[in-house]
Amino acid sequence: TGYRLATAAAARVLAVETDCLFCKIVAKEIPAEIVHETDRTLAFRDINPQAPTHVLVITKGHHADAGAVADADEGLADEMLKAARTIARKEGVAEEGYRLVFNTGAAAGQTVFHAHLHVLGGRDLRWPPG
Ligand code: AMP
Repeated sequence: TGYRLATAAAARVLAVETDCLFCKIVAKEIPAEIVHETDRTLAFRDINPQAPTHVLVITKGHHADAGAVADADEGLADEMLKAARTIARKEGVAEEGYRLVFNTGAAAGQTVFHAHLHVLGGRDLRWPPG
């Protein structure tokens, strides 16, 4: 694999992993039901939803996990959180409550190694998670 550089509309340079599923969604090479977009984030419905609302907020640039997002740029993690809040409001789950999850690392259940924030809502969510 390896990295190539892509130029975003705003003339910002993004790192793109050529074999990454979510980079392909950003590049529109794989379809997704997009529900929200900002300069540096994209949000789409999870293909295998675990709740009535299950949206993934990703960074447009390739970062392997939440830790890499935090290392990359202070403002980027904030932009993901703000996107999640906007989505929760749009989906009508902000009032009743919703869950934000970053599975970070294989032992935590991360299967796609392009950082994504799960936004889950619309049903009672139990704690602790499995
Ligand atoms: P994680 O296990 O935290 O890495 O989450 C990866 C998530 O990506 C899972 O919930 C999958 O259902 C979801 N997923 C995998 N492929 C796609 C896809 N093509 N479009 C939307 N969601 C996907």
